[in-house]
Amino acid sequence: MASSAKPTICELPRSHADRPRHPDQQRAKLPLKARKDAALATLNGEHGAAAGNGQGLTKAELVAWRRTVHMFPELGYQESYTQELILSELKAMGVSGKPLAGTGVMADLKAKAPGKTLMLRSDIDALPVQEENDHAFVSRHPKVMHACGHDAHIAILLGATKLLRQQPLGQGTVRLNFQPAEEGLNGAGAMIEAGILQGVDATIGYHIWQHLPVGQIGVVTGPAMAAVDRFEITLEGKGGHAAMPSKAIDPIVIAAQLITAFQSIVSRNMNPFDTAVVSVCSLHGGDAFNVIPPRVTMEGTVRTFNPAVQDLIERRMGELVRGIPKSYGATGTLAYHRENPALVNDATMADFCRQIAAEVVGKKNVKNPEPSMGGEDHAFYQELVPGCYVFLGSAPKKREIFFHHHPRFDFDEDVLPIGAEFMARAARAWLG
Ligand SMILES: [Zn+2]
Ligand SMILES: [Zn+2]
Repeated sequence: MASSAKPTICELPRSHADRPRHPDQQRAKLPLKARKDAALATLNGEHGAAAGNGQGLTKAELVAWRRTVHMFPELGYQESYTQELILSELKAMGVSGKPLAGTGVMADLKAKAPGKTLMLRSDIDALPVQEENDHAFVSRHPKVMHACGHDAHIAILLGATKLLRQQPLGQGTVRLNFQPAEEGLNGAGAMIEAGILQGVDATIGYHIWQHLPVGQIGVVTGPAMAAVDRFEITLEGKGGHAAMPSKAIDPIVIAAQLITAFQSIVSRNMNPFDTAVVSVCSLHGGDAFNVIPPRVTMEGTVRTFNPAVQDLIERRMGELVRGIPKSYGATGTLAYHRENPALVNDATMADFCRQIAAEVVGKKNVKNPEPSMGGEDHAFYQELVPGCYVFLGSAPKKREIFFHHHPRFDFDEDVLPIGAEFMARAARAWLG
């Protein structure tokens, strides 16, 4: 699930090499074995047998993968530890993966008989969040945390791979996509440019989901996650002494008017049966209590499902940003960027995923949750091939629930075997 904030991308860059990086994180410099051992030490035998016994897939193994990734998280396009772990674990299963789009990984599981190709995708990046949990496997990297659950996604896809390797596939190919940089840096675009969709007939993506209890799976038909737009506004007034406002043009007063006026777009310009969010999330102006600043800048996000609504909001924001400052003798400029498109689940793929979900968690635990105004760059794949994006319930039943991107985000690890089984079954059934 993409965060809407921070990265200062102006347009979607053309290749991963052009994409902006977060400032380098302070990393623990540890070899892979030491990182895995550190995670194993947190298990304390609480999940049964020690991980990696070479037999069937155990929950301990899934938990160990998840915690190794969780303890050493990396931001978008910096996932070198994570990539090393994925390549190494695939190799141990006899699967040769290759790096793609810098820090991503692609691998194919091929049956002897030719057939269709289904892509299974996990995102792998963390967020610039300082973790506030106090469990044993807390992030060892300051100000970097798997606060969205992509650590779970990696464990689930490695687990599904192990399940798929236990028995030969009937026909066709499973394309594994471990995608970097989902959180606002369009890793999906980078993987597409690098060729991940070549020969792919359909795709399944998933997110662990704190809005559903662990043990449930949610599948939405049609629009499931919103289009994500980002805007930046600059208001140029005239600075001056706070005690003599008539000699200045105060951009802070204009900003206040503009923020209020934006709320009239959803309440007064849109069809009430359509859905949208307009949020101003950052506001900067002034450095002193007694100085009217010359300039105010604002940033925020717009979320929509319908391109006509998206067009309407962009047009109305432009009119307000030009018109309101002008009426005060100031100028306003709007930079409006369309990031992810809306994520729309193919009806046939959604029905298929619902049926597989029922096999894994029972029909009564398959839910049809509300669409989310959050964004997700799996939408780029689903623009090009039919796909479904599934929500795997992960909310703990006995602990307080902290949602995605919270510094105390933590999910129920029981979702890991459910996710792995769902993805492996889906792949086997879809390829036939
Ligand atoms: Zn997220
Ligand atoms: Zn996410």
